[in-house]
Amino acid sequence: MSDLSRPTGPKIIAVANQKGGVGKTTTSINLAAALVENGNRVLLVDLDPQGNASTGLGIEAEDREYTTYELLLEDVNLNQVIQETSIKGLSIVPATVDLSSADMELISNEKRSYLLHDALRQTQMDAYGYDYILIDCPPSLNLLTVNAMIAAHSVLIPLQSEFFALEGLSQLMMTIREVRQTGNKDLRIEGVVLTMYDRRNNLSQQVEHDARSNLGDVVFKTVIPRNVRVSEAPSFAMPVLAYDSGSKGAQAYRDLAKELIANNRV
Ligand code: ADP
Ligand code: MG
Repeated sequence: MSDLSRPTGPKIIAVANQKGGVGKTTTSINLAAALVENGNRVLLVDLDPQGNASTGLGIEAEDREYTTYELLLEDVNLNQVIQETSIKGLSIVPATVDLSSADMELISNEKRSYLLHDALRQTQMDAYGYDYILIDCPPSLNLLTVNAMIAAHSVLIPLQSEFFALEGLSQLMMTIREVRQTGNKDLRIEGVVLTMYDRRNNLSQQVEHDARSNLGDVVFKTVIPRNVRVSEAPSFAMPVLAYDSGSKGAQAYRDLAKELIANNRV
């Protein structure tokens, strides 16, 4: 399938869900690592003031001099904020708690919804040679998440296989529709991925059934199992693909990357 809307430059995917703890950061880190394994160059933008993606990839808080905050709100360019990680081919724009005030500071800014879009479309962007940019969104539908959706080609939605999983999804879909109407008419849904799935648990199966019957094809065939290696990896500052390459969690994220590449939804 040819891709007319994206003749050059990276595919930008916002990883979003306003619920906390559903697997946004875990998916951002491990999908990024899996895409790198497939020979892609990937930039992960940490857009959450909690900075979990930055920590999970081994960028210590004291080494985060320039962050997403400066990229959005100060005269600092992409070159100054990108850091390499221990995974070759995977770079990150880190975040710190400074970003928590950004939402308020953005309100009075005329370009408040477009700051990330503009930062990621600087003319030298092509020179970096990224194939993908993943944006790890905060657990909120605030201006930071709107910035991610305006900047992105698509939204990837992690859905935790838990009770109430589908609640709140309509609000997220409404935000996506609003973004399409106001600033990014081509914004696609990359897909919904079920996370922390437990095959032995009836509830997981029920959530999967409900998600597939309500949302159809948009739900990835790959589900991410609940796997202790996945939750251990960040404390070793590694994606699970590096921490325990043969684990079920690592394999699932490889499958997700392959499915995403094959789908080529743009
Ligand atoms: P979010 O970014 O949406 O807030 P996280 O990615 O931080 O969510 O995940 C929330 C918690 O669940 C973290 O402690 C993480 O380690 C854990 N977790 C995420 N995915 C899995 C998984 N597949 N198996 C086990 N634990 C997981
Ligand atoms: Mg997170």
